[in-house]
Amino acid sequence: MLLPAVPAWARGSVLQQAPAAADPIAKMRADIGGTPIERVKLTDSLTMLSGPGGNVVILNGPDGKIVVDSFVQPAWPGLKQALDSLGNGRITTLIDTHWHFDHSDNNENFRKAGASVLAHANTKKRLSETHELLGMRFPPVPDGALPTETFTNTHSLTANGEQLTLGYIQPAHTDTDVYIRFSKGNVLHLGDVFFNGTYPFIDGGTGGSIDGMIRGAEACLKLADSSTKIVPGHGPLGDKAALTEFRDMLVTVRDRVQKLKTSGRKLEEVVAENPTKEFDPTWGKGFMPPAMFIGVVYNTLR
Ligand SMILES: [Zn+2]
Repeated sequence: MLLPAVPAWARGSVLQQAPAAADPIAKMRADIGGTPIERVKLTDSLTMLSGPGGNVVILNGPDGKIVVDSFVQPAWPGLKQALDSLGNGRITTLIDTHWHFDHSDNNENFRKAGASVLAHANTKKRLSETHELLGMRFPPVPDGALPTETFTNTHSLTANGEQLTLGYIQPAHTDTDVYIRFSKGNVLHLGDVFFNGTYPFIDGGTGGSIDGMIRGAEACLKLADSSTKIVPGHGPLGDKAALTEFRDMLVTVRDRVQKLKTSGRKLEEVVAENPTKEFDPTWGKGFMPPAMFIGVVYNTLR
């Protein structure tokens, strides 16, 4: 399994520095945007790119290119170069897995390149609003960066011999999450409903919760078989076993934190009890340090 280099933002440094920076979003963009792009061939027509933002999947062929997620703005020249290197077919469609900027930040550049931008209706709504996230204030995106086409339940596309199914995932990481299934290649992109190998960020401000993440993982496991290539929002390419392990970790942590919260423990007390202890050496080295993950779990539980 190819392990991409851990980008600066995934080491937690940005989280500590962001509040002090003059323009924390610009700083985070620059930090993430400097990560090199790595390429993994999934099938003859499907390619995964990782690095400067959430993982990208490209479907390429005579009907043009369909792209899932778009990295952050500073990565646009590198992403365009990677797309061009696959052939001179035009970019027809960009799909946003959800509203977060490390996935949707190049919507406007894709639209300028002639692509339509397809997303869940809630992604368009969330991109049109102001949000506080990780100590940063995200203003509404320009009109030119909004999705041009939305759906609410499922949406199908056919191109390059592939059948794509897009489906809404009930609020999990956010209330805008969709999966993208490529039937012929047996590839599934789950956006940030799946972090492969690190604790996930869960955006309680736009509908995310630990219970929703668990339900989302359960629902997505039903879409996979033992040979399905599962693309996470962050982390290396996964499979059904990796997604199962992620789900099991979430369930164990949720149950422990729920028990402590129900018994009246404050967040600091729960953190002190170390409910993620045996998971920390493997899952706690990414974007979400253990204490922050416990906080997200605690705060999205009743
Ligand atoms: Zn996200």
